[in-house]
Amino acid sequence: MEANPTRQVVAIVGAGFSGVAAAIHLARTLPSPALVRLVSRNGSVGQGLAYGSPSPHHLLNVPAGRMGVDPREEGGFLAYLHRIGLAFGAGDFVPRSLYAAYLEHEFFAARAAGFARGVELRVERGTIVDIRAPGTHGVELTSQEGRQSGADAVVLALGNFPSQPPPVAGVTWDEAGLHSSPWGDLRVEDPEAEVLLLGSGLTAFDALLQLRHLGVRGTTTMLSRRGLIA
Ligand SMILES: Cc1cc2nc3c(=O)[nH]c(=O)nc-3n(C[C@H](O)[C@H](O)[C@H](O)COP(=O)(O)OP(=O)(O)OC[C@H]3O[C@@H](n4cnc5c(N)ncnc54)[C@H](O)[C@@H]3O)c2cc1C
Repeated sequence: MEANPTRQVVAIVGAGFSGVAAAIHLARTLPSPALVRLVSRNGSVGQGLAYGSPSPHHLLNVPAGRMGVDPREEGGFLAYLHRIGLAFGAGDFVPRSLYAAYLEHEFFAARAAGFARGVELRVERGTIVDIRAPGTHGVELTSQEGRQSGADAVVLALGNFPSQPPPVAGVTWDEAGLHSSPWGDLRVEDPEAEVLLLGSGLTAFDALLQLRHLGVRGTTTMLSRRGLIA
């Protein structure tokens, strides 16, 4: 239950890039008093699908000098890298995990600034499984653990849903050697294994780099609908 019933409550579901960017924006612009609840599946801030990868081989596809989270400060990410002692240039493509660290840093800076003007940013751990707007009492959110909470407004920042494996007759995608997603625990035991990647875009390159990092040296083939890279 909200301790101060007079303050506006906004719940943001999803603590990846969009959720964090929305929270930073609300910390600056919401009339006070207000509470912004950032609901994060695992309690992390900024680590969605793209930037949550811990692999140093998974790089941003936009140069560091153009990745500022504030559109008024395009070079904000590069300035952050320099502040923490990393001498990257504006044209460098850097590990995505560094971008998650930058988002987290910006979130906590916004939290301090918001607090000073009566807007509290709070991180809550949970996975939201149900949202209802019964009317005068605002919006009710229910977490997977069964916890219920209320808000005046909700921002859905859920990211991309997991891709569906292609329908192949007789294939269930849970057999050894078949991976329906390149994310998570991608393991190939045989260093000489031949690997077929379905797709030839950025995700396929992430998978290729990860395979090479795992020591897989066999032939890797990318399958492209149009015979093109990306
Ligand atoms: C592999 C990959 C690489 C990319 N690289 C770049 C790049 O280099 N540069 C660039 O500009 N863009 C890149 N993008 C695009 C990038 O993903 C988007 O710009 C941005 O990260 C999307 O942010 P998002 O908040 O929508 O999603 P995400 O950052 O994925 O965040 C969504 C979050 O919501 C959470 N969530 C979902 N459902 C619930 C729920 N029910 N309850 C609680 N939490 C929930 C998820 O767990 C996740 O943490 C890339 C995308 C991918 C897939």
